[in-house]
Amino acid sequence: MQIVDLHCHSSASDGLLPPAEVARRAAENGVNILALTDHDDMEGLPDARAVALEAGMQFINGVEISIEWGGLQVHIVGLNFDDRDAALNAGLLSVRSGRVGRAQRMSAELEKIGIEGCFAGAMRHAENPNLISRAHFARYLVEIGVCKDVRSVFESYIVPGRPGYVEHRWATLEESIRWVVGAGGTAVIAHPGRYKLNRAEMRQLLEEFKALGGQAIEVVSGSHSPENVAVFSRFAREYGFMASCGSDFHGPGESYIDLGRLAPTPQGLTPVWEAF
Ligand code: AMP
Ligand code: MN
Ligand code: MN
Ligand code: MN
Repeated sequence: MQIVDLHCHSSASDGLLPPAEVARRAAENGVNILALTDHDDMEGLPDARAVALEAGMQFINGVEISIEWGGLQVHIVGLNFDDRDAALNAGLLSVRSGRVGRAQRMSAELEKIGIEGCFAGAMRHAENPNLISRAHFARYLVEIGVCKDVRSVFESYIVPGRPGYVEHRWATLEESIRWVVGAGGTAVIAHPGRYKLNRAEMRQLLEEFKALGGQAIEVVSGSHSPENVAVFSRFAREYGFMASCGSDFHGPGESYIDLGRLAPTPQGLTPVWEAF
């Protein structure tokens, strides 16, 4: 049985381990096919690829693109693209370039409720200053004792309706698919079970995604319950999507599951990695 993990993060975005360490850990966990999918950034790919190939794994180029859809922040994973593609690189640069301004606005909001120094504090946690993320804010709020862990931060702060959350213009669904498919890759809806969408809205997302050239959805994800897996298996069959799977590992102690420790993909689905 092959162990496949097509969704994880390194310190090139908001993961805790350097890209090479992520690949090394995946190899130790017996992963056979690995994709590194940092948020909006491909900087970690060369190091992860080198270690993965050295360890005898198949390595797939990946990225997780932040988009806005229906007023929600949705994530589109791109897999198996040419990472030298100019339009993909320019597109990701445009998404990254908004992050610093957003972080400053988040920091100003948190200052209003008496939490000071968040921009500088979060930046200290960001290995890649171009990729400042809410995860770095969360680590800073834990560091200064505002919350006991990162999970609690995302319950009380920096999420819609809570202090420190600001609206932001990300890429569109259409752009994200165009960049990935234009670079020869496959566009995948990341962890569809995580979005606060009712069935009708989910169908709308799936239909738009398909019409725009999206080909796969994550069925098995570190953040999916068994019920999510069943629901998205049915949607994959109904819409003719291939099935992807990934841990969404961010680092030891800060993840749903470890690299490669995924439930099996249900029978009768077409694994996205079969075509790689
Ligand atoms: P951003 O892309 O800056 O909006 O940050 C989103 C990141 O925050 C996600 O990729 C996760 O790493 C992290 N995150 C979001 N929600 C949660 C949560 N409920 N618990 C832990 N981490 C979260
Ligand atoms: Mn993340
Ligand atoms: Mn995500
Ligand atoms: Mn992710």
